[in-house]
Amino acid sequence: MLATNGRMKIAIQRNGRLTEDSVALLRACGLSFEFLKQSLYSPCRNFDLDVLAIRDDDIPEYVQDGVADLGIIGENILQERNARVHTLAPLGFGGCKLMISVPQRSSVRKVSDLKGKRIGTTYPVILKSFLKVNKVKAEIIELSGSVELAPSLNVADVICDIVSTGTTAKMNGLRTLCTVLESQAVLVANPTAMRDKKKRTLIDRLMIRVRGSQEARGKRYLMMNAPSDSVQKLKRVIPSLKSPTVVPLAQAGMVAIHTVVAEDVFWDVVEKLKQAGASDIIVVPIETIIR
Ligand code: ATP
Ligand code: MG
Repeated sequence: MLATNGRMKIAIQRNGRLTEDSVALLRACGLSFEFLKQSLYSPCRNFDLDVLAIRDDDIPEYVQDGVADLGIIGENILQERNARVHTLAPLGFGGCKLMISVPQRSSVRKVSDLKGKRIGTTYPVILKSFLKVNKVKAEIIELSGSVELAPSLNVADVICDIVSTGTTAKMNGLRTLCTVLESQAVLVANPTAMRDKKKRTLIDRLMIRVRGSQEARGKRYLMMNAPSDSVQKLKRVIPSLKSPTVVPLAQAGMVAIHTVVAEDVFWDVVEKLKQAGASDIIVVPIETIIR
């Protein structure tokens, strides 16, 4: 058991695929802390919260047991551990899929073909419920790592493992058969902390910030100048949050237009705006949007 100091704690992965995005999210929420991988606790200077850096596997149990009040963890680990925690929000990073892959030459073409096969995995709990839902009787071989090698070592016939691009599977002579779980990082809370008045106030404050930074994700703030008579034409090109802000410039006949545009369409929009008469187009990142 860890020593406690009465302050709230959020557990994040110490060193791995979720670490950078987790730290970035907390910083985007305005939390000021120095993140040192070698130290267990990083206290926030401006929020009554300590960041606890641990292995991702420990996060569900630590949050369930109240060692940490909050945690950021992949849904894959969360579901596998069956921890009793409260899920507050999906976070839009750490995306990956738990997939069943089979050797290239395997006769397995569909889920029902898995009947009687040995499936190697580090996710026996999730796999078991997937097989149950799909009414397939197969043998689950619980492994602790290097799952992709199991078919060539004849430890298993097929595997159920995390895939983000499929390259590792391909490199090991495997082809993907089906997706068992689509996962991303989520923010979770200890159920008792959710019922504690003081802690709940802090969680609610943090959640407003988390939602704000989620809203801002993938969006850009766009400012431009344009002749007043081109405003109607420009409005048709701008997919703004509500309606673009149009303010007169000191120069007669000219206006400034401000709006928010999604990252994935913003180059298309900028090109069209230019054609429609806009100039001096400025694009800036958005940190947060509070609704
Ligand atoms: P730890 O030392 O903390 O136990 P780990 O090696 O178990 O780390 P990582 O490989 O850093 O874990 O992955 C952490 C999480 O990142 C995974 O549980 C999953 O939710 C997510 N993730 C995203 N992409 C991938 C991927 N390509 N492979 C594995 N996990 C991924
Ligand atoms: Mg781990």
